[in-house]
Amino acid sequence: MAETVYKKSNSGRRGIKFPSSQLKDKNLSEFLPKEILRENNINLPELTELDAMRYFTNLSRKNFSVDTVFYPLGSCTMKYNPKINEYTAGLDGFTNIHPEQNEDFAQGALELMFELQQHLKAITGMDAISLQPAAGAHGELAGMLIVKKYFEKIGEKRTKVIIPDSAHGTNPATAKMCGFDTVEIKSDSNGIIDTEELKKLLDNQTAAIMMTNPNTLGLFEENILEISKLAHEAGALLYYDGANLNAIMGITNPKLMGFDIVHLNLHKTFSTPHGGGGPGAGPIGVTEKLKDFLPVPVVNFNGKKYFFDYDLKDTIGKVKAYYGNFGVLVRAYTYILMMGGRGLRQVSQDAVLSANYLREKLKKTYKLPYDRICMHEFVLSGDIQKELGVNTMGIAKRLMDADIHPPTVYFPMIVHEAMMIEPTETESRETLDNFVEVMEKINEEIKEDFELVLERPVRTPVSRVDETLAARQPNLRFCE
Ligand SMILES: *Cc1c(COP(=O)(O)O)cnc(C)c1O
Repeated sequence: MAETVYKKSNSGRRGIKFPSSQLKDKNLSEFLPKEILRENNINLPELTELDAMRYFTNLSRKNFSVDTVFYPLGSCTMKYNPKINEYTAGLDGFTNIHPEQNEDFAQGALELMFELQQHLKAITGMDAISLQPAAGAHGELAGMLIVKKYFEKIGEKRTKVIIPDSAHGTNPATAKMCGFDTVEIKSDSNGIIDTEELKKLLDNQTAAIMMTNPNTLGLFEENILEISKLAHEAGALLYYDGANLNAIMGITNPKLMGFDIVHLNLHKTFSTPHGGGGPGAGPIGVTEKLKDFLPVPVVNFNGKKYFFDYDLKDTIGKVKAYYGNFGVLVRAYTYILMMGGRGLRQVSQDAVLSANYLREKLKKTYKLPYDRICMHEFVLSGDIQKELGVNTMGIAKRLMDADIHPPTVYFPMIVHEAMMIEPTETESRETLDNFVEVMEKINEEIKEDFELVLERPVRTPVSRVDETLAARQPNLRFCE
């Protein structure tokens, strides 16, 4: 069990030594305003550099990461993050730049942002992009604020946002935060939106439909063209949650499907490390008629110079300090250039191939509620194994002992005992085969002695925790 770094502290130990102060007999308050001076000594652990290094390196090894294990976390696109991204993001010109830097001295950084906007336009088909939002959910917020402002501008009062029952929780949460009422639309027996049902819900109160395609069951909404026609006939806008873009790049795009607003998760689709809360980047894109509503600034080019453009007449304003998470933007830009257009299409084709490979193999052992060709992910149910005594949570915990990060579990909520599996394109056939073997072995273990499986995991620093309590009252020092 890990001790906290405070336990390892030993008074007087130092990593580095500073030269002794030449202002010993002066008081800091002679130089600094009183309100920023610390009143009490800050209690920091004291360690040598080596001890600090070992402490944090060992701590990091207790984690699951895509650099160490297979990580099929559905809807999160935990692909490998090529290390060249770290090289470019670490270049001096990018790391030593200040956000208040005069534009004339930051032309390279602005050019990168401008070019990234151009690439994202090509990938999504959208007419304009803002790189401001810092995550997918943040992009959704910006997008739905645009919906709101758009209807204010054209003088229509619309209160309703339609969202499928398979949607990611951030969709209804965002709609609510923007003051809309959410209306749930049920998926049909094929796992997609029922257009007859949609016709009943759509009316002149509907501001938008929020969807992702492929949806969170990993299934392509094949009626999307009819859905977008119906939405637009009703005067509503169509919002695209781009978290699942890894399935369709270079094959189709949200514009072709009829969407008006999209957000992307650069940290998912375009390979930047994520999980554990950030940082991320959730740019949004819009069609021509919504261009002036984008959050500012957007980066523009006047033929001579790149500049931050704040001059959008209907803008929802700023949604983040400065210009977005620049380091994430550099990584995504690097990834896009490394892949190229054809490479990005290959990414999607391989992601879909890997998912279907696993789906076909695993459906022999686990229930597959929607037995159709899937896109980049699919959802199994642990119903059969639950009958035998181990629910999906138990299977997830058992996987950790096999050095595999569990899939997303209990989401989407319309599948009982859901396991949402997204292998991504970066995993080898051997890794996928090993996953299948492990999943089959777990099933055998459950049949033989389910109680033993319930004792798992035994190889992790902690075994089973009360997850509700852990989330509500995190006690990060409990091992002391
Ligand atoms: C991840 C995800 C989001 C939210 O994105 P964040 O970057 O985590 O805020 C929204 N919708 C779907 C379908 C997602 O998978």
